[in-house]
Amino acid sequence: MRTIRLGSLLGIPILVSPSWFLLFGITTFLLATQVYPDLYEDASAGTHLLMAAVSVVLFFASIILHELAHSAVAKAYKIPVKSITLFIFGGVSQITREAARPLHELLMAIAGPVVSLLLGGAFLGIWFVLGAGDSRPLDYVLIWLAWMNVILGVFNLLPAFPMDGGRVFRSLVWLVTRNYNRATSIAAWSGRGIAWAMMTAGFAGALGYNVLVADSPVGGAWLILIGLFLENAARQSLLQNKLVQALAKYSAGDLMVSDPPVVEGTMSVASLARGVLEINPRVTYFVEEDGKLAGILSGYQMAAIPEKEWDSRTAASAMVPSADLRATPKEKLVSEVLLDMETHDLLHMPVVENGRVIGVIARDRILGVLRQAGLISAARA
Ligand SMILES: [Zn+2]
Repeated sequence: MRTIRLGSLLGIPILVSPSWFLLFGITTFLLATQVYPDLYEDASAGTHLLMAAVSVVLFFASIILHELAHSAVAKAYKIPVKSITLFIFGGVSQITREAARPLHELLMAIAGPVVSLLLGGAFLGIWFVLGAGDSRPLDYVLIWLAWMNVILGVFNLLPAFPMDGGRVFRSLVWLVTRNYNRATSIAAWSGRGIAWAMMTAGFAGALGYNVLVADSPVGGAWLILIGLFLENAARQSLLQNKLVQALAKYSAGDLMVSDPPVVEGTMSVASLARGVLEINPRVTYFVEEDGKLAGILSGYQMAAIPEKEWDSRTAASAMVPSADLRATPKEKLVSEVLLDMETHDLLHMPVVENGRVIGVIARDRILGVLRQAGLISAARA
């Protein structure tokens, strides 16, 4: 789904998914028509609506602060943050890499819930400073905001990977076992267990049983949805962990094509593709201009060009220019190379040694290894 850009904070774009407007609308509606009229009867519908609107806007600002806390720690450890996205289940920071050390992960994960709990304390503090009353609309708004931030902080601390608490849990297991993969696996299974518990409680709540966490059909349905979302995320993490392990024995040098043929940028695609693609669809050329590497041209790119254009297209016009490529040393683990490719949407990466390009690694070659290991289906690759 397309996201809408709200602006940027600390250099990180803040995006909003269309699904978020649904959450925004429903929350405002429930607050204005149910929650506030129940709590604060002596006010007009207009006042309730205003209270609801202020509450929701400040709560989403709180969620952005929670995400900014994760992102700020990530940036402090030089881990790039692509964006912060608000969606129907709250917020998520697109942090491009995993932390290199357990302690980094611990601090990065715990920063968000800590900020939520502090915000909860701050809203409560403001309410106290203003007299801790129950006669003004603001009193109810402040209490609601304090309460929601505390719930957000505590809920996120559940040891359910990939939620914050699950990351904290993983970092601790990682610290103790010194085994990142095992830690991820344990934390992800804990995440799945908690997800199933949520869904069970949600069903019970939806059927009218009074379980502590959900005592209404709406609360129950919501818990089921969150459980489903979490179960899916935990399962994805397990799969991803398996992919990383399957690739662990390879470095970029192992899977690269060494010294691909070098061609001139002025050559036509026809002369490079015709008769060649049928035999070797994975053919890759280095394209040179003025004796320097100008880009990479692969079989996939050539195959994507309609054959009737092959004669008029030059290698230079069809290649991926060097400026758009990111090189990798041949020692780099293939799992990291793949992540880098996914992050930057690349199909190939030149492999360099001592400042010289010695080969090229294609995303398809890496996916081929995963296919052979039975971890992805042919359809996906
Ligand atoms: Zn968080």
